[in-house]
Amino acid sequence: MIVVMKVGTPELEINRVSAEFAERNLTPEKIVGKHKVVIGLVGETAGLDPLQIQEVSPWIEDVLRVEQPFKRASLEFRHGDYSEVIVPTPNGPVAFGKNHPVVTVAGPCSVENEAMIIETARRVKAAGAQFLRGGAYKPRTSPYAFQGHGESALGLLAAAKEATGLGIITEVMDVADLGKISEVADVLQIGARNMQNFAMLKTIGAQDKPVLLKRGMAATIDEWLMAAEYILAGGNANVILCERGIRTFDSHYTRNTLDLSVLPVLRALTHLPIMIDPSHGTGKSDYVPAMAQAALAAGADSLMIEVHPNPAKALSDGPQSLTPERFDEVMGQLAVIGDAVGRWPKVAAAVA
Ligand code: PEP
Ligand code: MN
Repeated sequence: MIVVMKVGTPELEINRVSAEFAERNLTPEKIVGKHKVVIGLVGETAGLDPLQIQEVSPWIEDVLRVEQPFKRASLEFRHGDYSEVIVPTPNGPVAFGKNHPVVTVAGPCSVENEAMIIETARRVKAAGAQFLRGGAYKPRTSPYAFQGHGESALGLLAAAKEATGLGIITEVMDVADLGKISEVADVLQIGARNMQNFAMLKTIGAQDKPVLLKRGMAATIDEWLMAAEYILAGGNANVILCERGIRTFDSHYTRNTLDLSVLPVLRALTHLPIMIDPSHGTGKSDYVPAMAQAALAAGADSLMIEVHPNPAKALSDGPQSLTPERFDEVMGQLAVIGDAVGRWPKVAAAVA
């Protein structure tokens, strides 16, 4: 249930109303939107009468029920106000969200060695990326495949951050590593395979680093939003959703089916920022540019693209990785579409 306060409601009254709801065993959550303040109520609201709630204050404009099972993640919960996730990076804060320029995240699947991660970081920054991605802990189908360099790779990500000022996004595979990952990461990635690791979602929800929640490879949109709800319910409001392709019946030509229909669907359901990952979504570098363009045209808030200095030699996901040269070209093409939809960042990135 949400309580919409009238424009200009005094802060004191908002606090008084919230305290009154708390006394009734509800959890009031103050959401400051562009024009209005909304108090979200989570808890046993089924038996509440909206008319009675209305009587709590003359400053209450409206009382509405949130129909979706995901409460905090729903667009209704914020009364139609899209949220922004602002991530501090050495180069300055970067905002993800519907009302902000598109944010590009690029880098290798795995951090392999210092030279490659620093070179990739410099190249993607020069091309306009604001975040470097790179796995230290890798979720691999085969236990014999490269599992990531772990802690030493975190050190290399820190070096790349130091060299370029880019924000860092890297995956958490085990919450036992959260402390050391958080020392370098600006955004914690929860991979597709852990989207429904509820214990992990709770732990990540209880800390305050922004989170990138990838869609499980066979997850419905409701399941995905319920996973986001776990993080939001834990108290962490900074969640970005990432579509990375789902399993369908044909895995011969593409690794996954990139579900770009999530863009309008999620926009109608949730206030959370939306990232698209055409690299895992297609599995083939040749298909990445077209799907990245399509994602921008359809309203993505952010793109995640795998880039490797020598894809043929990559320790993971080489076939879907762009070379830095190709990434440069692709960013040029993306700028045309980004400008057309009014979402491309204005300032050209400086060369590190
Ligand atoms: C990745 O980003 O490298 C990755 C493993 O992604 P996903 O969880 O989407 O497969
Ligand atoms: Mn990968």
